Amino acid sequence: LATKLPKVGTTIFTVMSQLALEHQAVNLGQGFPDFDVPQRLVDALARAMAEGKNQYAPMTGVPALRQAIADKTEACYGYRPDADAEITVVSGASEAIFDAVQAVVRPGEEVVVLDPCYDSYEPAIDLAGGRAVHVPLDPVTFAVDWDRVRAAIGPNTRLLMVNSPHNPSGAMFDADDIARLSDIVESTGVWLLSDEVYEHIVFDGRRHESVLRYPQLRERAFVVSSFGKTYHCTGWKIGYCIAPPALSAELRKVHQYNSFCSFAPAQWAFAEMIRDEPEHYRQLGAFYQDKRDGFREQLSTTRLKPLPVPGGYFQLVDYSAVSDLDDAAFCRWLTMEKGVAAIPLSPFYESPPAGQRLARLCFAKNQATLDAAIKRLVSL
Ligand code: PMP
Ligand code: GLN
Repeated sequence: LATKLPKVGTTIFTVMSQLALEHQAVNLGQGFPDFDVPQRLVDALARAMAEGKNQYAPMTGVPALRQAIADKTEACYGYRPDADAEITVVSGASEAIFDAVQAVVRPGEEVVVLDPCYDSYEPAIDLAGGRAVHVPLDPVTFAVDWDRVRAAIGPNTRLLMVNSPHNPSGAMFDADDIARLSDIVESTGVWLLSDEVYEHIVFDGRRHESVLRYPQLRERAFVVSSFGKTYHCTGWKIGYCIAPPALSAELRKVHQYNSFCSFAPAQWAFAEMIRDEPEHYRQLGAFYQDKRDGFREQLSTTRLKPLPVPGGYFQLVDYSAVSDLDDAAFCRWLTMEKGVAAIPLSPFYESPPAGQRLARLCFAKNQATLDAAIKRLVSL
């Protein structure tokens, strides 16, 4: 078979979770919480199903949920998107990314991505017949070199994809980044895809610089988020995209023939949860900051050196004091021989920086899980 995706194998997340299972490793690899979904959300889901909300949702999403997303967006970012024309509920941020790329990228066009980037971006671009142009982030701070981004954009560039808070590094945009990004978007006329799935997981009083705060950016952007991250339910696969009416209309053309609509009972449950318990997303940063701080303190008893984590639920560690293996080999060894699964960074790059010795650990875990991992990591 002449594959359409020659560079793609099984995702690193699946590979490492499988390896963790085979070796009974503590799984700090694939990013997912191992603690419970808020009881209120579970109750709301059960009630929605019991009340018969089990048939197709409207293609664009249950109206009460789109309304709740509009309210929440206004409360968080001072901008109220039109619930009918600008908000589309989809099956996870992954679907939003896929749909947006298919909607605007034509064969032969280029899309600028910033490496390391989430692994679904490039396959989505390839399937649209486009070409990913990779611009590396700083290998130590993961800051964006906006001059390089500008230089990578040419007449054939259709889309720029950004992600803050960033997976895997946790790096976040500040006001200067937004100013540079605005200049670039305005002067080149590219479309923007802003992946903001970790929007509520931000630390130390930082402000999440959502593209939705800025008129000059949001009028050219698909802004993507995911309830999986915000409500500890990565397996429910509900996310959404906020984009101006013309972009939303194009995204919906893809969404309606991709999945048509997303799991209806959960949409009702999220509508209720967002409306009745805004404290959940308001306190999410503090909730994860405690975990981050505790985990970093525990890591200080090991030979792994933690990098700063401004946002998100991943801790990068420099393992060069422990091993000179490359990151893929190190993460396999750590999983199979030491019983802790981690994610290497190289799959997030077109060309990983030479000699980079970093691994990603997920701290969205119960304390008992983190304790079990640390117990194994102290012996490295
Ligand atoms: N973008 C980023 C940066 C992510 O980390 C993830 C999930 N790990 C996604 C998109 C996909 O989100 P979802 O599970 O809602 O499809
Ligand atoms: N986004 C999650 C991560 O970065 C994994 C998602 C997946 O397994 N597809 O770990």
